[in-house]
Amino acid sequence: MSNRPEPILPPTYLGILGGGQLGRMFTHAAQDMGFNVCVLDPDPQSPAGAVAQKHIQADYQDEKALAEMAKLCVAVSTEFENVPAQALDRLASLGVYVAPASEAVSITQNRVAEKKFLATWKDVAGIGPAPHWVIEHVQDIEHVPADLFPGILKTARMGYDGKGQETVKDVEQLKQAWDRFGHVPCVLEKKLPLAYEVSALVARGSDDEVKVYPLAENRHTNGILHLSMVPAPSIDDATEKKILEAASAIIRCLEYVGVLCIEFFILKDGSVVSNEIAPRPHNSGHHTMDSCVTSQFEQQVRAMARLPLGDVSLLSPVTMLNILGDVWLNDQAKANAGNPAWDKVLKDGKAKLHLYGKAEPKLGRKMAHINFLGADTNATLKQAMAACDVLGIEK
Ligand code: ADP
Ligand code: MG
Repeated sequence: MSNRPEPILPPTYLGILGGGQLGRMFTHAAQDMGFNVCVLDPDPQSPAGAVAQKHIQADYQDEKALAEMAKLCVAVSTEFENVPAQALDRLASLGVYVAPASEAVSITQNRVAEKKFLATWKDVAGIGPAPHWVIEHVQDIEHVPADLFPGILKTARMGYDGKGQETVKDVEQLKQAWDRFGHVPCVLEKKLPLAYEVSALVARGSDDEVKVYPLAENRHTNGILHLSMVPAPSIDDATEKKILEAASAIIRCLEYVGVLCIEFFILKDGSVVSNEIAPRPHNSGHHTMDSCVTSQFEQQVRAMARLPLGDVSLLSPVTMLNILGDVWLNDQAKANAGNPAWDKVLKDGKAKLHLYGKAEPKLGRKMAHINFLGADTNATLKQAMAACDVLGIEK
């Protein structure tokens, strides 16, 4: 007999906290499988709320809203990592199956806890975090090991897309940066000589089954993910294997149910460190929608519904290109009545456009992504670069 608890079958309602693009793509995947979806998000215009069967428009801590969600949904997940852990606890206490659980999400919400977790399990995972020092009190600054400079000061909470970070060269600069951050808890990390960055997308079912997707190699522009390439072009087989094994170990140590993403840095000397854990499907995993047997969103649905995980094989090499609001506001769009020239991009029949349905394009706002399929990473990257030229995206 299987040790998997009873599966949750469609057309049951699944719930998602957060109505952004991740919630929207989750909703589409759940609906494809015949589930109904309830989204909790205060924003009346939320991308997921617009496509879900039910949108509860309220704050994440609103007691009445959480009770309504608990009444409707058998299982609930979250699409953003800063969801209040209390909301997940409340739903669990109302009898909802919450995946991932709030204990696991809480660790990943706080860089201090996250680094401690990664350091604690370093021997099991085979890869640990960058050298770092926790700064919570002014005295902590006096004891910072000198070899952590130059370093990057990162706020413990609410950092994303390079926000809440400053590079500091010495103790003086560290003090000033910590002043600017308002003396909130922070981590100072040694600035490492990075060769490139990869992310491992991992799923774990409630029966401890674990599946790791092929690694994505990521490039960022101004702290925001620019593109992801799969198969990762720079990595060797031994390093990839080491990272995939580390990712499996980390998700098990977290006792996490669902999809998560772990970022790794490969240093110039070939060594590897773990960076962040995102407790949800991740931007660098959007390629799976077109490139893999099972998309990361379907995988999240399967995990939270206690269904068997889907196959994670890569069906085609792919490059995922992020499309920010900038693309609506540049000269190319102006010459095209304010519209990005999707028609030109889609002339490439292996370019797959995913627009998130956001009303207002803003600088830096994630509006869409395009997956370019092709024979190998060289080809897919070339297609993505051609689209950058068409759309006026900085390469
Ligand atoms: P977030 O993605 O939440 O903004 P990260 O910790 O991933 O924060 O840092 C953002 C980027 O900064 C990374 O993708 C990497 O390019 C760079 N970075 C972060 N930490 C280090 C480090 N210790 N050494 C060198 N570069 C780093
Ligand atoms: Mg990051």
